[in-house]
Amino acid sequence: MTATKLMPKFNVHQNWQAFINGQFKKSDLARQLINPSDGSNLCQVYESSPAHVEEAIMAARTSFDQGEWRNTASVDRAKMLFTIADKIEENSSELAYLETINLGKALRESQYDVTDAANCFRYYAGLITKPTGQSVEVPASSFTTIVREPIGVCGQIIPWNYPLLMAAWKLAPALAMGNSCVLKPSEYTPLTAIKLGQILQEIGLPPGVVNIVLGDGIKVGKLIAQSNLVDKIAFTGSLKTGKSIVQDALGNLKKVTLELGGKSPMVVFNDFDIDIAIDYALFAIYCHAGQVCSAGSRMIVHEDIYETFIEKLKNRAQKINVGHPFAPTTEMGAMVSEIQMNRVLDYIKIGVKEGAKLITGGKRIEKGELKNGYYIEPTIFAEVNSNMRIVREEIFGPVVVIQKFSDEAQAIALANDSDYGLAGAVFTSDITRAYRVIKALKAGITWINGYHNTYAECPWGGYKQSGWGRELGTFGLEAYSEVKQINLNLDPNPIGWFNE
Ligand code: NAD
Repeated sequence: MTATKLMPKFNVHQNWQAFINGQFKKSDLARQLINPSDGSNLCQVYESSPAHVEEAIMAARTSFDQGEWRNTASVDRAKMLFTIADKIEENSSELAYLETINLGKALRESQYDVTDAANCFRYYAGLITKPTGQSVEVPASSFTTIVREPIGVCGQIIPWNYPLLMAAWKLAPALAMGNSCVLKPSEYTPLTAIKLGQILQEIGLPPGVVNIVLGDGIKVGKLIAQSNLVDKIAFTGSLKTGKSIVQDALGNLKKVTLELGGKSPMVVFNDFDIDIAIDYALFAIYCHAGQVCSAGSRMIVHEDIYETFIEKLKNRAQKINVGHPFAPTTEMGAMVSEIQMNRVLDYIKIGVKEGAKLITGGKRIEKGELKNGYYIEPTIFAEVNSNMRIVREEIFGPVVVIQKFSDEAQAIALANDSDYGLAGAVFTSDITRAYRVIKALKAGITWINGYHNTYAECPWGGYKQSGWGRELGTFGLEAYSEVKQINLNLDPNPIGWFNE
């Protein structure tokens, strides 16, 4: 039976429209989405005109300024977030289906993402009812407290690689804190965000608190970043776009947080079980076909095990079942788009031209029912050096480079030799060394003897050019708040500073 026949059935031909001020908005700007698993037409999405974007920003502004949501008791905001989580779970099969058909990622990965999205809403629902703020002892007779308040209108611009999960990471803390939002999903993968809008409408979130606008970065994203009615931009995406958003945000000096790219190292010492390290290495780079910001795209391996590591990684990579995203046996699905596939294939050509040794992979896969889809073989390069573009730049595909080190100092130097600093890992059975190396790593998310574990409870974000600020955990809630000190004078008598 072909994978297509195995597909669950959900209606993808819906009227996919922007969600503005509690209503779905018609437009005549239709975009044809393509199914990355076979290159066929998937469905049309009606994108937002500049007037619709303005309307969405104004709806968020009005909702915030009138204050219905921000003045809702935190216990009731929490209740709403718990309901969103329940509804995500109730609709989990459809959400996972839409994610996979839109994005091409293996169904099992989309299922994990849906669960994580629900958990993220639950985490912030719980967190918002916990004690916050400080009361401090100050000189003189003042009672002083420090409180956190919502920022206002939050523009949230997200990428295509985790469409629902990124929407959850943005909306859950912002809503918990009492902000109003204008969310823009990627133009390639808007379906699950729109479905989330349907859920928000169904459960009766007050109109204007969440608005979802549709379209590309220049026509829609830029308008949000530039708007003086927006108080904060939370952006996840590429370094290049992040820099342009910072420029666009200067007008009203809105707050900006950035979750950008990575070129994350995985350091493997010769004292660690090599087969276990290989297992994690496969997961680090080939999960979601390498389209993960924290992907372990640079393996840094001790010289004693370098050749064996390459041989073993090659053998395992060649066994990865790249297949139709809905087939139950599929371990790695398609790339999101033809553009992204070609971008990755171009990097592979660049690597070969730069003189790196192509160990395995490197080609598009066009066999059988994968013929018209956007699939790439798991690819490994060795004999690379730090000046090569394939070692320095984020490829965002199933391509890994393997570097060699002889001692700990060199491993650390290689690992930190990057403009990025999102994530990193070390594999060793010497716990003292593990801790030493991790402490020396310039990265925001690190693992010892593991890779990719991500928790709503823990801060997510990078050093260096991987971004500004943190999402998730208590840090993620703080990023959606302003800090205010309140001084209550307990002795309001004349102070006599100036003569009467
Ligand atoms: P991208 O920067 O091309 O686009 C991201 C979003 O920004 C999209 O919604 C796009 O429409 C919008 N956009 C594009 N140009 C814009 C502009 N000038 N103004 C405003 N908005 C604009 O990134 P992508 O290709 O969608 O995603 C891949 C990138 O995202 C990778 O670099 C990856 O590492 C990064 N990413 C980072 C994290 C993280 O947590 N650090 C997570 C996921 C993805």
